[in-house]
Amino acid sequence: MTLKKNDFDIYSLIKKELRRQRNGLELIASENFASADVMAAQGSVLTNKYAEGYPGRRYYGGCEYVDGVEDIARERVKKLFGAEHANVQPHSGTQANMAVYFAVLNPGDTIMGMHLAHGGHLSHGHPASFSGKYFKVIPVNLRKKDMLLDYNEIKTLARKHRPKLIVAGSSSYSRVIDWRRICSVAKSIGAYFMADIAHYAGLVAAGIYPSPVPYADFVTFTTHKTMRGPRGGVILCKNKFAKDIDRTIFPGTQGGPLMHVIAAKAVAFKEASTAGFRKYQSQVLANARVLAASLESRGLKIVSGGTDSHMFMVDVTPVGLTGKDAQAILESAGITVNKNSIPYDKQSPAVGSGIRIGTPAVTTRGMKEREMEIIGDAISSLLQKHALAAAPKNMATARAQKIVRTLASKFPLYPNLKS
Ligand SMILES: *Cc1c(COP(=O)(O)O)cnc(C)c1O
Repeated sequence: MTLKKNDFDIYSLIKKELRRQRNGLELIASENFASADVMAAQGSVLTNKYAEGYPGRRYYGGCEYVDGVEDIARERVKKLFGAEHANVQPHSGTQANMAVYFAVLNPGDTIMGMHLAHGGHLSHGHPASFSGKYFKVIPVNLRKKDMLLDYNEIKTLARKHRPKLIVAGSSSYSRVIDWRRICSVAKSIGAYFMADIAHYAGLVAAGIYPSPVPYADFVTFTTHKTMRGPRGGVILCKNKFAKDIDRTIFPGTQGGPLMHVIAAKAVAFKEASTAGFRKYQSQVLANARVLAASLESRGLKIVSGGTDSHMFMVDVTPVGLTGKDAQAILESAGITVNKNSIPYDKQSPAVGSGIRIGTPAVTTRGMKEREMEIIGDAISSLLQKHALAAAPKNMATARAQKIVRTLASKFPLYPNLKS
């Protein structure tokens, strides 16, 4: 590798990031560790190739091999999810969502989706996002008494506001989303239904979270979260929308596809079709349930009462902290999470009353239920000690740091990469 010699600034930051990933405990719900094969495909010569268009219909010569790559990626992902059509070119989940909106909506049309503080994504109509600027948005909130989706409320709102498209999907809702019920609401008002499974895709592929594919007109997802592939997006749809979706990705909203990333997506889809991946995803779920129960038994509150997925939100107000403080306290011990607004939050989004926790990354490292108990104990005692003015905080931090060091060395990450 000549990078070290030719560009030491970047080389050394990459090495530091590798060390950070190895030495820490990654509990950010949207992160994971891609395989060496995925990274090899992504770091390949395919990065050099322009391939505007689609296999067999490109605007550049020399596409015979990248055509093969994109064909394989499309076929694999269609088979994995039982979908009629797939577009594997979106550069990200947001790009995938944008293409669906632009394929079937006009500026000023109404969409309905979960509010950001109630689990929705920026691209579901937040005012700071293109989705909130171009479209009129009807936000859906979780039900206050149990923090669950209220399907009757969704039906009432939909009948009243008649959105042209209903988005369902979430970045922090831990429970099962009833795709069939949302589909029937959409059908009853003649709306399109888009399911955004950016977070749940890996669990869906493994058959342990319900699939929206039979119900939704469009299914979008990211390939880098539970799917454990390269950073990127995918759109699945019924055949009748195939032309519109493909045209809206290219030339509508993107230029040349990232063929190296598409190759890495194909590798990830093959990995996701194995028994090992299904076993991995059921361990992700088992770990999330054990970790949530462990935190709850030690005085923290789990939003929506538990989890059916790889993640959950912790309301940290019972121990007298904000989400921002909790994130910083855990960070000081090498535990990475992200602060999050919880539904009906009294804090600003920059502070928040919750943290979001996910198990995909630690499960990729091989951790199981036993380790989740240890982590749950470390997190809750850290947060509790730091919330008390008189408690010995440094001792709690030192203890958690030791737990993190022990787990990190017992479950090595990328053992074949040089540090
Ligand atoms: C992560 C996420 C996205 C978008 O992901 P990017 O690739 O970061 O654009 C879209 N929708 C949901 C629900 C997400 O959680």
